[in-house]
Amino acid sequence: MSPVAGNLFILAAPSGGGKSSLIKALLEKHADQNMQVSVSLTTRAPRPGEENGKHYHFVDVARFKQEIADGTLFEWAEVFGNYYGTSRTVIEQTLQQGIDVFLDIDWQGARQVKQQIPDASAIFILPPSEDELRKRLTGRGQDSQEVIEQRMAEARAEISHYAEFDYLVVNDEFDHALADLERIVLTQRLRLGPQRARHHELLASLLPDDRR
Ligand code: 5GP
Repeated sequence: MSPVAGNLFILAAPSGGGKSSLIKALLEKHADQNMQVSVSLTTRAPRPGEENGKHYHFVDVARFKQEIADGTLFEWAEVFGNYYGTSRTVIEQTLQQGIDVFLDIDWQGARQVKQQIPDASAIFILPPSEDELRKRLTGRGQDSQEVIEQRMAEARAEISHYAEFDYLVVNDEFDHALADLERIVLTQRLRLGPQRARHHELLASLLPDDRR
């Protein structure tokens, strides 16, 4: 077990906000550091290319409901008709090992996490404009206007919760947004609690016992 617990980061965004690519890039860039993205449980079907255990743990509704009843989920929510949730033991054990954990979850999950761990950094990622959001949600041009409007409405519903978050990052230029995320992570790591534990010996050498 590490003497310094890891930090918990919550990332939320409307679909089309670029959240998953940002988390992926952040973890790849800092692969040498202690960072992990949490793999959620979901009842939705895997999309092409998605692997069980890597993108999600794909489970059926009965199993998910059992997890809720057993209290094994740290947070959970129903999003677009499917259940999604974060395993409690994985989060707790990973943080105890001093590893920073990133949760890619919706606003409902973010709220539950903040209630349990107020020190968690909750980050909301915004698309740079309405036009760009619409473009990202239009995909490969195969969807009807109705489907796109439905996605826009869902995106607005997620965005309407932005003020519950600690940080707001606009994903205009990917590299800028990534740099913003890195700054948030570094700032969080420099907070007094973990720094005091990390630099215990330095503080001990600089201060008499009663001043530490
Ligand atoms: P998708 O089905 O597109 O992968 O995800 C749909 C939404 O569910 C996204 O906003 C995603 O962040 C959210 N989500 C994914 N995993 C979890 C989770 O474990 N808990 C909660 N509350 N939301 C999640």
